[in-house]
Amino acid sequence: MNELDIKSLYLQELTEKMAELQLPAFRAKQIYEWIHVKLAKSYDDMTNLSKELREKLKEQYPLTVLEEVESLHSESDGTKKYLFRLTDDRVIESVLMKYHHGNSVCISSQVGCKMGCKFCASTIGGLERNLLPSEMLDQIYRIQSLSGERVSNVVIMGTGEPFDNYDNLMRFLHILTDANGLNISARNITVSTCGIPDKIKAFAKEGLPITLALSLHAPNNEIRKQLMPIASRYDLQEVLNAYRYYYDETGRRLTFEYSMVEGLNDEEMHAKELAALIKGMNCHVNLIPVNPIKERNFKKSENKKIQNFKNILEKYRINVTIRREMGADIDAACGQLRKSYMDKL
Ligand code: SAH
Repeated sequence: MNELDIKSLYLQELTEKMAELQLPAFRAKQIYEWIHVKLAKSYDDMTNLSKELREKLKEQYPLTVLEEVESLHSESDGTKKYLFRLTDDRVIESVLMKYHHGNSVCISSQVGCKMGCKFCASTIGGLERNLLPSEMLDQIYRIQSLSGERVSNVVIMGTGEPFDNYDNLMRFLHILTDANGLNISARNITVSTCGIPDKIKAFAKEGLPITLALSLHAPNNEIRKQLMPIASRYDLQEVLNAYRYYYDETGRRLTFEYSMVEGLNDEEMHAKELAALIKGMNCHVNLIPVNPIKERNFKKSENKKIQNFKNILEKYRINVTIRREMGADIDAACGQLRKSYMDKL
């Protein structure tokens, strides 16, 4: 699955491939537009190409699309969850969230995940494979087509660790932000990582002003290790140093995600310790009531405790929000829809 399909090619590369078929550059540009702007599902949609050419392209450069298996719509806030089938029959999930500032799509970067975070449903079956750039793009393309909603924001926060699929992630991001493609502003994109220092530093050098979110979830390494195996591999200070470097290089304000687990990381002393840990960083903390999954017995912190945690951080002048639980009525937690589908097979 590592060979790049036509939807994963840059315009320049597509132009070179089409030149091999004796096609001029303007034809390549038309095809690129059909794929990335008009979101064509098949070569047959490309009505300004001759039938003969369409047949040739079908044969030599198959254009694949994700197939909708199932979708769930939240009555309460309009959130839509999609389950898509890949060409090898594996399934992934993606989410459309409606905010007043625009529509945001949360996409998966891998099929399954090998990071093993204790509270996460996506990692239970391990990593199956990386997603191709086209498969990441198509989650957005299909959601935009199926829902009829224009997507303005993208978060790479679904199943998978994006930095464990670095090259495909970068290709995906370059195509997504390409002025000849869907042209989503890098400033409207967030990549969320469990914290892999060398990848964070490499990402800082890519020249894209993307928001980087770090899944912190703990005020110290000891508690972090209880939730995230990756914390045993990289010390928290090393991760934070890489993270500071990201800010220095890009000037983008940092986001920390902090899932609140009852009795583990939600006490006053944890809030104070967290405030000390991130003191002086230009950052924002997102408190997320942990979403309980049936395979693990973590409970979400009480609202009162979360509010108190927030108040303490604010006393230390830290920007903090409590994440609104979107689509709570439709299997909201990461990877739960996919997991419940797989369990039924
Ligand atoms: N691998 C990346 C992105 C995918 S997870 C990362 O670790 O950031 C996206 C976010 O959802 C992470 O912050 C993750 O820790 C969090 N998450 C996963 N399962 C969760 C759950 N059941 N409740 C609350 N947050 C969860």
